[in-house]
Parts: sequence; structure tokens; C-alpha cells
Amino acid sequence: MTFSIKKLFSPPFRSQRKEYTPIPGRQANPETAALLAAFDKYNALIFDGRLPVPRLRLSKAKTRLGQMACKRKTVRGRTTFSDYCISVSTYYALTQEQLDDVLIHEMIHYSIAYTGLRDNAPHGIVFRGMMDNINRRFGRHIAVSVNTRSIRPRVPQAPRTCLVLALKMKNGSRYLSSVSPASAGRLELSLLRAGEVESHAWYQTEDEYFSSMPRVRSLRGRKVSADFFDEMTRKMKRME
Ligand SMILES: [Zn+2]
Repeated sequence: MTFSIKKLFSPPFRSQRKEYTPIPGRQANPETAALLAAFDKYNALIFDGRLPVPRLRLSKAKTRLGQMACKRKTVRGRTTFSDYCISVSTYYALTQEQLDDVLIHEMIHYSIAYTGLRDNAPHGIVFRGMMDNINRRFGRHIAVSVNTRSIRPRVPQAPRTCLVLALKMKNGSRYLSSVSPASAGRLELSLLRAGEVESHAWYQTEDEYFSSMPRVRSLRGRKVSADFFDEMTRKMKRME
């Protein structure tokens, strides 16, 4: 939900206005057609139908749920905006209500830029005022930002197979590490020379515990308890 303006050259604002007609063929994609229908609905309901249809696109963005972009040009101290584009990410498993909130969030940015209002920040007093008002009047839950880490992707990510090195040290401590397969041979050799290592074993697993771990290329690992070590090594597939 970032407001980004690309500094590009474009004709002055006035001459751009009449160019906001739907692009032929754009509605061929049923998903984009749904986005256009939602835009029309909220434009009429919330913005008195005064926003011209911008470019609308669906993205697979992971770091932002929506974006409003446009070109900016300053002539004789007067800044004008053109080529508005609103994109909404379909990467996350959002409900229709949540997707509509994302779209309306971007429509607020668009409305501010289009009508030439000035705000004191990307989500400044003007933005928040409009957002609060819309949330109250229409029972919406539009937010300034959404933590994308708290929401699931629409399509579950394919499980990642990890190569795991399990180490028992002579002092009793135990380590688990996810190893870059390209480094396994070299690490195996260095293990033979590592005097502090009592025993080691290689495993293959799709367990989520390892999928978030960095894949190491040297003898490094996460120190774990003996119980956890035993539990994990029982679950994983031993490699000979
Ligand atoms: Zn925003």
C-alpha cells in the first residue's frame, strides 16, 4: 500500500483528462473485469463517481497488497499527475471484503492525487481523514498498512526439501543445520577432521522448522536440546 510516483515526463494535466476511457480488450481477462466492476461500484458509492477509470491491474506482489502509481510533471512550479494505475495483489488469500478494502485504500490515494489535494505524508492527515470517514460511513476496515507476514498466500508454497546435518559433539551439545547441497561434500570432509565432533548424520526433510533456516555452506548450526534433536532425527529421512 505504498504511494509511489514515478518521475516521468508527461503532457500537462488538462490534456490528459480526456484520455481516461477504458482500454479496449482490457476486460477480456475476467479477473481484471471484476476489478473494474469493483472500481465502478466504489467510485459511485464513495467518490460520487468522479474518478475516471485508471489503468487497473492485478499483481503477484508479496510486499504490498496494493499500489497507486502515476506520472508527475512540474511546469512553472505547478505539479500535475497523469497515467494513474492501481494494482491489487492476488498473491495472498484475502476475502473479497479485504480485497475491496485494498482497492478503496488505493482509490483514496488516487482521489487525493487526482483532485490535487496536498497531504503532509503518504498516509497523512488528508488520507487518514478520508479513510476514517469511509470506514465509519460504509462499515469498512481499510487500514493504513497491513502486515503481509500475518496473512497466508493464496496458493500454498511448495514444501522445500532441506538437506540436514545433525551433529553430536563430544561435550554433549547437539546441532542441526540446513546445508546447501553443493557444500555437503566439502563439509563431510571437514567433519572427518573436526576433533570435537562425536558423530554426524545427514537427513532429508520437508519439515517447516528447516525451511526458514538459512542454508549454510560451512560448519554452522543451531544448538538444540537432546530431546529436540532425538525427536527431529526420528522424523527425518536418514541418508546413507
Ligand atoms: Zn497507501
